[in-house]
Amino acid sequence: MTQTLSVLLIEDSEDDALLLERELIRGGYKPCIHRVDTIEGLCAALNNGEWSLIVSDHSLPGFGSDLVLRMVSESGLDIPVIIVSGSIGEEAAVMAMKAGASDYIMKDNMARLSPAIERELREAEIRRQQREAEKTIRHLAFYDPLTQLPNRRLLLDRLAHALLASARSRHYGVLLYLDMDHFKNLNDTKGHYYGDIFLQQVAARLTNCVREDDTVARLGGDEFVVMLENQDPCPDHAAFRAKLVGDKIVATLSQPYSLNDYQYFSSCSIGIALFHGERSQLDHLLIQADTSMYAAKKAGRNTIRFFDPAMQKALEQRVELEHDLRQALSRQQFQLFYQLQVDDQGRVLGAEALIRWRHPDKGLISPADFIPLAEETGLIEPLGRWVLETACAQIKTWAVCPFRQHLTVSVNVSAAQFIQPNFVAVVESTIRHAGIEVARLKLELTESMVLRDVGDALAKMKQLNALGLALSLDDFGTGYSSLGYLRQLPFQELKIDRSFIDRAPTNDNDAFLVQIMIAMGQKFGMEVVAEGMETEQQLELLKRYNCKIFQGYLFAKPMAIADLDAVLSAHFAAV
Ligand code: C2E
Ligand code: MG
Ligand code: MG
Repeated sequence: MTQTLSVLLIEDSEDDALLLERELIRGGYKPCIHRVDTIEGLCAALNNGEWSLIVSDHSLPGFGSDLVLRMVSESGLDIPVIIVSGSIGEEAAVMAMKAGASDYIMKDNMARLSPAIERELREAEIRRQQREAEKTIRHLAFYDPLTQLPNRRLLLDRLAHALLASARSRHYGVLLYLDMDHFKNLNDTKGHYYGDIFLQQVAARLTNCVREDDTVARLGGDEFVVMLENQDPCPDHAAFRAKLVGDKIVATLSQPYSLNDYQYFSSCSIGIALFHGERSQLDHLLIQADTSMYAAKKAGRNTIRFFDPAMQKALEQRVELEHDLRQALSRQQFQLFYQLQVDDQGRVLGAEALIRWRHPDKGLISPADFIPLAEETGLIEPLGRWVLETACAQIKTWAVCPFRQHLTVSVNVSAAQFIQPNFVAVVESTIRHAGIEVARLKLELTESMVLRDVGDALAKMKQLNALGLALSLDDFGTGYSSLGYLRQLPFQELKIDRSFIDRAPTNDNDAFLVQIMIAMGQKFGMEVVAEGMETEQQLELLKRYNCKIFQGYLFAKPMAIADLDAVLSAHFAAV
């Protein structure tokens, strides 16, 4: 049978091309010839075509066979190149062979062509088979033949790279060590054939659970490792992310398996270890993850354990707190405390509402410990609404008391609330429902909240102002403290952060900053409030700087409404 031969011919003479074709046919081939005679043509043919053979003239207009040989060699393709020429000298022929030509043929001795081609094709085929074999060996050395996943050796190799990368980036990486629960039972009762199908399905599910650049490896038996790189610079966040992936894996692997005709249920236990640059040692890491996997087995299987006990505990607490937080609102465990705000004569102007969580076991929990969690879980929305409603109800109650009806209530707004598109609408409907005088309510925002999307913030602030609400810039000085933005944004009040008040009496720099903040705020037409006033010394200083409104333990701590009422009664009896 005649063999089809796809030939790339570099030749400027049509006659010589015909000569070659005839010779190939005579040699028993069915040639398919693509002829080029420019460098561009050669380049395109090398990039796009698939050639069994290249035949090149020795010298063409503008270039010679030396350039052809170089281009073929640089392309990395393994294609025999035969030089055909009418006038190649012996020296040039030797040069061509050195440069990678497979053979050279004189035009007056074309009979040599066919045997040369036969020989070159045979050798090229041997080289191809060798490459395939090497590839297979490499695959066997680094991949698990049953699941096609990376094996232990490749995992260790990638882990070593991951440690170096983590040392550079300072980001944590994660190892999840997995073991299928009761796998032995399946093997013992249904045989290895079913066991193998099961492991292949586990491998496929695992691969689907993670991103493409994560590594899923099989260590042997029913043990797998998932490696996540470049997670987070903060260990708590990295641990939380690891937990999320772990949870996803646990859920995915506990779905029923169809092993041919047999429906099978399984679960897995996962041990997690974090790694961070040079501080982690390769072999220790796998042992850590393995150890925690056994802890997960001991804890009743189908579960996750962290190697670091502190991390494990922190995570459990977080999960528990989140669970409790979800129920806290319906169980009426939240309470608003109020902290008085007074003027430079000691007269009460209003109060800031500060939320507290009365946990049934843990007692009073401060907002710093649960507001961030509420933000992450989306619970901040119903919670924020509750705060607003409760504060409005308080204003409503005070509205009928002669000595209290002038008091304002400031409510803290969190970023997650403020960015909601319906934030203004929620505020408006709450105020309308409560039927209060809007001027009694203030909202406290922070710089970072409004600077995140100045356009959106500005629009919302204008709408809130239009409702009659005063806006207060909370914790001023801790963020960007950008004067330029401050001028643009319609704040009616500025609260200087406690940290500056704290340091002002002893630190000239802070004292100077406080003075500037007061002067600047007042220049922009804002009321300036000094937060966290604790000492007479601070008060004296702040008064000297012309500050007119104060809030802090020096006057009153945040307190429940009953206590506040008592304090207010005493206060107004005295004036
Ligand atoms: P903030 O708005 O800056 O509230 C002032 C914090 O400083 C309050 O802490 C208050 O108890 C404390 N403080 C007041 N005077 C002094 C003092 O003289 N010395 C000291 N050392 N501290 C003083 P709290 O109540 O723990 O609240 C912490 C933060 O939690 C608040 O900071 C606010 O950002 C947030 N927060 C409180 N309630 C709510 C709420 O209802 N919603 C939202 N989104 N955040 C809230
Ligand atoms: Mg505040
Ligand atoms: Mg504050």
